[in-house]
Amino acid sequence: MSEFTFQTKVLHGKHRIEPTYGGVSVPIHHTSTHHQYDIDAFGKYDYNRAGNPTREALEDTIAELEGGTRGFAFSSGMAAISTAFLLLSAGDHVIITEDVYGGTYRFVTEVLGRMGISYTYVDMTDIEKVREAIQPNTKVIYMETPSNPTLKITDIRALTQLAKEVGALTFLDNTFMTPQLQRPLELGVDVVLHSATKFLGGHSDVLAGLAVVNDSQLAYRLEFLQKAFGAVLGVQDAWLVMRGIKTLHVRMEQSMKAALQLASYLEHHSKVKRVYYPGLASHEGYEIHQEQAYGPGAVLSFELCDEDTFRLFVEKIKIPVFAVSLGGVESILSYPAKMSHAAMPQEEREKRGISNTLLRFSVGLENIEDILQDFEQALR
Ligand SMILES: *Cc1c(COP(=O)(O)O)cnc(C)c1O
Repeated sequence: MSEFTFQTKVLHGKHRIEPTYGGVSVPIHHTSTHHQYDIDAFGKYDYNRAGNPTREALEDTIAELEGGTRGFAFSSGMAAISTAFLLLSAGDHVIITEDVYGGTYRFVTEVLGRMGISYTYVDMTDIEKVREAIQPNTKVIYMETPSNPTLKITDIRALTQLAKEVGALTFLDNTFMTPQLQRPLELGVDVVLHSATKFLGGHSDVLAGLAVVNDSQLAYRLEFLQKAFGAVLGVQDAWLVMRGIKTLHVRMEQSMKAALQLASYLEHHSKVKRVYYPGLASHEGYEIHQEQAYGPGAVLSFELCDEDTFRLFVEKIKIPVFAVSLGGVESILSYPAKMSHAAMPQEEREKRGISNTLLRFSVGLENIEDILQDFEQALR
């Protein structure tokens, strides 16, 4: 089905028809082990931490959508990210984008550091800063673009080229874009990571993580680590993510259209100090994003003019749930300083533009006129 567009591919992947009875939904194989019929030749599956047909269907699906050769499903986005970091050894060095997801920041600083892996946070909008941070033992350059929550743009092609010059691998957290809007492997990235909890799952009802590669050696190493570390995704959850992916295209298109309208509205509102959204021509890195992605996504952040306005707004807004997370069918309003980035000290947060009046909004599937009206009354 590779000749078709993404919109069609999300529905008609390798597992669209189940081979035994022709079912059009992937069966949920609830089993922890598989009987072996032959003492000399074991079947494809044995113990299910190493492989399960339902999980594998999801792994094939994400690999196909990202344009990779192998996908891996984990029990959460952080499980996928942490397992990928296990490709490193003591003595190695990582360069990581400074406004990385809070949980990734926590894992790198609190866990990798303790295991003898050093790290440098840099502003990846500036390739020269990345170049300066390179050390002889730099093994991984870790990107997140657009970043969280200020949606900073990293030039993926420039960074993968730099990484190749110095023999480092590149990881990219593609959660905000999904393969619909950005396919990092095509731009030279080695490992694509996802919190499938967000847009891929899409319904705020499942935690899941994914990793995708297109190099057979890397696939072999990640497969080993997935089994060795053991943070695999359960079959019910794998099924929920596959169900979510079937409507990814239609959800993303709808939410993205609304996000652009909302961002334009906020940009001109007197009580809004600043709007961060890669779909606005005024957004830093707008052109680079246009060249490497197929759309700006459905997440935007905005800074309100002062703390009083901020408190009143959060109190008065009706439609969104006020919560951690993003990418659901319902709009989600988050407060990065106290939610996703709570693990980061205030000083570090402020350096990254995550002020105490910054809010992040993940646009869901509500009618945009209702959303605009709700913002209008809450800001008033
Ligand atoms: C949510 C998120 C994660 C972590 O994923 P979990 O599924 O919550 O473990 C990682 N990166 C980004 C960008 C996220 O939004």
